Amino acid sequence: MFAARCDHEGTRVLLTERRITEVRVERHHIVVRFVCWCGYEGSFREPRLSASNLAGPPHDVFGRRQLA
Ligand SMILES: [Zn+2]
Repeated sequence: MFAARCDHEGTRVLLTERRITEVRVERHHIVVRFVCWCGYEGSFREPRLSASNLAGPPHDVFGRRQLA
């Protein structure tokens, strides 16, 4: 399960991985496209967990997560 924002319902929703339609890896982010239970198609970005991210200070990683 993962949490995503549904703009159609205006709230956060819990979705299963089966609702993911596409995962695209970009240079610094992973872009995840999903279809909500209501049919809305949305997407969100997650910081990519690369070796450089893991080597950095932990608070830096958490800070980026909160921005996503
Ligand atoms: Zn929805």
